[in-house]
Amino acid sequence: MNDATVYLNGDFVPASEAKVSVLDRGFIFGDGVYEVIPAYGGHLLRLEHHLARLGQSLSAIRLANPLTDEEWADVLSQVVSHNEGVDQSVYLQVTRGVARRDHAFPPDTKPTVFVMSTPLTPLPPALREHGAEAITLEDIRWQYCNIKAIALLPNVLLRQQAIDTGAMEAILYRNGVVTEGAASNVFAVSDGLLLTPPKSDQLLPGITRDLVVELAHEHNIACSETALSLATLRNAEEIWLTSSTKEIVPVRTLDGNPVGEHCPGKLWHRMYGIYQDYKAAVRAGERA
Ligand code: PMP
Repeated sequence: MNDATVYLNGDFVPASEAKVSVLDRGFIFGDGVYEVIPAYGGHLLRLEHHLARLGQSLSAIRLANPLTDEEWADVLSQVVSHNEGVDQSVYLQVTRGVARRDHAFPPDTKPTVFVMSTPLTPLPPALREHGAEAITLEDIRWQYCNIKAIALLPNVLLRQQAIDTGAMEAILYRNGVVTEGAASNVFAVSDGLLLTPPKSDQLLPGITRDLVVELAHEHNIACSETALSLATLRNAEEIWLTSSTKEIVPVRTLDGNPVGEHCPGKLWHRMYGIYQDYKAAVRAGERA
């Protein structure tokens, strides 16, 4: 394994030397939150938005933010500059720290702060050219899916269920209404209109989702944040999955049935181009 430089509680060290206690509440309870931020040519994409979401996740689990936004920006860019890859995926995690095992919050524990980075590879050409397969599954997760919690066991099991059937992603629904993917947000094109579920505690407010909505408005593409029924999804002309690392993935089949007439569809091609232009502007330091 490549011994990348990571940040742990104030120090920049090789990953092989970074050690966390077995009593860390992240390890024992999954008591922590995280972010994944792409860096293009050393520039962190939508850093302000990621730090705002981190702040929301931390306050939702009643944990004080251990760093200011300026300190986060400094630590994250140092990790990026220490590591290989023109494009990188930066992972940060904050847990409630090390304490004797007890569910109740420990009184004086310092949070554990960890940042690592891995090279970010572009979407494989096969996915870009032919799209991905997805299945639908009931959303069996909890009622705080807007928190980017490290406790991801339900998401892991749902994603694996998709993988086991040969699909890439599970698209989740509650009471016949789409929430999101196991590790992505969902868009559908229906009657030419781009749709995505509105933000709520049922789904993660994806930074890529927000960017796609913003870019749609900027480029006069009709887009609506509105409840998406399974029936609408099943009849959609296009389905896309968005996430920071996978950007915008077109979906070729849903539960084994073809999506629309062509995959990738016309609107995907347009939005993908707009998104790549945005990334180029981020690389050039012209947009954030
Ligand atoms: N929903 C879930 C459950 C996720 O885990 C992710 C990120 N992998 C997303 C949505 C997409 O969020 P973002 O665009 O901020 O990466």
